[in-house]
Amino acid sequence: MRKIAATYIFPGNGKPVKNGILVLEDDGTVIDLIEKADGFGDEAGVEFYSGILVPGFVNTHCHLELSHLHQKIDEKTGIGGFIGQINRLRNATENEIQQSMHTADKRMWAAGTVAVGDISNTTLSLPVKLKSRIQYHTFVETFGFQPSRADRAFDIAETVKNEFSNQQLPASIVPHSPYSVSEPLFRKIETEARREKGILSIHNQESEGETQFYREATGPIADHLQHNLGLDISHWKARTKSSLQSILDYLPSENCLLLVHNTFTSEEDVQTLLAGRKAENTFLVLCPNSNLYIENALPPVEIFRKNELNICFGTDSLASNHQLSVLEEMITIQENFPDIALQELINWACLNGARALQMEDQLGSFERGKKPGVNLIATLDLKRLKLTSKSRVKKLV
Ligand SMILES: [Zn+2]
Repeated sequence: MRKIAATYIFPGNGKPVKNGILVLEDDGTVIDLIEKADGFGDEAGVEFYSGILVPGFVNTHCHLELSHLHQKIDEKTGIGGFIGQINRLRNATENEIQQSMHTADKRMWAAGTVAVGDISNTTLSLPVKLKSRIQYHTFVETFGFQPSRADRAFDIAETVKNEFSNQQLPASIVPHSPYSVSEPLFRKIETEARREKGILSIHNQESEGETQFYREATGPIADHLQHNLGLDISHWKARTKSSLQSILDYLPSENCLLLVHNTFTSEEDVQTLLAGRKAENTFLVLCPNSNLYIENALPPVEIFRKNELNICFGTDSLASNHQLSVLEEMITIQENFPDIALQELINWACLNGARALQMEDQLGSFERGKKPGVNLIATLDLKRLKLTSKSRVKKLV
């Protein structure tokens, strides 16, 4: 048995407990959370830390496969510059890729991450995931702008998904983005989602370029498809609706859905989203450090909070981030939206993430019987209960 105390304990499903003690089995299972307002003077065998205890973090959007692109992509070039650079850098050896994924996985664990929703286009990350102590849900991502490519793209995704499933690693087939998936491919993904009831995830309104492509059929995405990929885009016509509003029909409302980025999502988009599906199984994944890296923009967090949408965090990949740390994402939001309470940020980082990946039975909060991991966040403003740029995480359990 282990007893851990800190200045505050944030249980993940409620208010912070001052001077509490978290009691755990040796294997990390939560036995109890004792409120002890009168201090620890008489309690034997208690480890005490200055700072706050929170459950293990859940990173709901990552691309392990891109880990070898760390520090290779120029910042703030916009979506056109970013995808162009990625395309030109697809020449690493398999050994380099494996090594960089292995290191990224180890660092995520050390930074207090207990579960990850990972976008994969191939089976390259399978060996790392089999050995990892992190629980992964793999989103097998498929794309294909040309309608004629739909069958082939879907077959490849199915083969990849089966390889993960055969190793008992949870996986589901998902579309890359509104602008990179043709209607017939969307329909195939939809049919599979209805049959398998898998978790869906899609990059949503990450760039202004996406809006421009939908509204005017021009801009950096049109340029990328035509000039980098050499595709004929003459079948693409400007729409009257936004990208999100145009694709919602393909994403069954019964399936859990993760919308990733949402940097250019509007109030009208949110109203359309909520008219078509329940907030309960809809999650908005924020990757603020990646948004700053690529577009130098941040999502309209206040719109999502006002509409009581479930928010969680993702780091995106090392191609567009300096680290894969949920705490660093929380700090960026805290610094840019100083009114958001720490309790709310922790809820996004822990329990909402666990719910998004359907792992809330075990993860996300200090509730009896769960095994959520325990993180210590130190060097924060304990008087105002705010994170600062110096806040650090230490994994205790
Ligand atoms: Zn991504």
